[in-house]
Amino acid sequence: MPLKHSVDPAPSASVATTERVFEIAVLPGDGIGPEVCAEALRVLCHLQPAMRGARLAFTEQPVGAAEYLRHGDPLPEAAFEACRRADAVLLGAMGLPSVRWPDGRELTPQIDLRERLDLYCGLRPVRLYHTNDSPLKNFHAGDLDLLLVRENTEGLFSTRHHGHSVNADRVCDLMTITRRGTERIARAAFRESRKRRGHVTLVDKANVMPSMVFFRQVFNDVAKEFPDVQADHVYVDAASLFLIKDPRRFDVLLTENLFGDILSDLIAALVGGMGMAPSADIGDECAVFQPSHGTAPDIAGKGIANPTAMILSAAMMLEWLAHPDTVAAAARIRRAVEQVYADPTLRTADLGGRLTTTQLTDKIIEQL
Ligand code: ATP
Repeated sequence: MPLKHSVDPAPSASVATTERVFEIAVLPGDGIGPEVCAEALRVLCHLQPAMRGARLAFTEQPVGAAEYLRHGDPLPEAAFEACRRADAVLLGAMGLPSVRWPDGRELTPQIDLRERLDLYCGLRPVRLYHTNDSPLKNFHAGDLDLLLVRENTEGLFSTRHHGHSVNADRVCDLMTITRRGTERIARAAFRESRKRRGHVTLVDKANVMPSMVFFRQVFNDVAKEFPDVQADHVYVDAASLFLIKDPRRFDVLLTENLFGDILSDLIAALVGGMGMAPSADIGDECAVFQPSHGTAPDIAGKGIANPTAMILSAAMMLEWLAHPDTVAAAARIRRAVEQVYADPTLRTADLGGRLTTTQLTDKIIEQL
């Protein structure tokens, strides 16, 4: 992933090390957002003493449907500015089906944030930790290990702000694909693949849509810059089939905005559901780390939400901050999650278990 800060050289014994302070804007949001966010903060605070050269300074910002009900704006300017200035943003989840704009659309301040900060690169990794957690048969820990790279700023979401009249007979959404937008996301996907198995699959619909033919052409041009990476293409309908029948054929999947939105839920299902799927939205200057799931109003307030996706998103943030201590802390979180999930009795309700949100986090912290 593009890194905000270059990795500092290891401090030599004779040189006094200075503490690096990272300002983290925390946006708990709505529904289960605050519940899972609190657990990620608990994990980060537990790790803080071991990060001797890096300190995380958290500032909570009021954003989301509840903030809209309080003051009429789901993303107040002061909160937006705090996110822009922060070293990283940690976000729970936002929006509620019952809270809408006067024209009926749901509030989506998390998408507004993505667009305004130009967080073009959506990284959505999934990994299977235990065979019991996948709906697919005969897949074992580590067998399913995919990264979906989603273009976040254009594609089929590009006209989402265009309203339509109530009496319209025809409403169109526009698939916007630009050379610049495709080049930068394709390069990000190729760079990510170099940290993995070196294989990028473009998921498109180039057999039907001219915009997707263009998407593929630009992708092919960028692929020439990465001769060490295997590049191929698959139509989005076939990708849906292969992801169920033979997901091991993929490593990094690159998609436009809407296809990525849909397929990231599908790949989350392969490893146990939304509670297992972290994500990062990254731009050249800023980055937001949040679970792939939404506010899950059906389980909010019950204390049963799975905090794993949020905790793994916090690990992605630590890695992105690229300080040796935060990178080491990220690896510890991943190892702890792996160890907890190796025991199939330690699960929240979404995975058929009995642990509460807090109890599952306790288990992760025990492993740390
Ligand atoms: P959005 O449109 O914001 O992505 P959504 O309405 O598609 O949200 P989610 O809020 O992600 O959907 O919820 C989808 C389903 O997954 C719900 O049944 C919800 O309870 C479940 N779910 C989501 N996140 C979690 C979690 N962390 N733990 C347990 N179940 C979850």
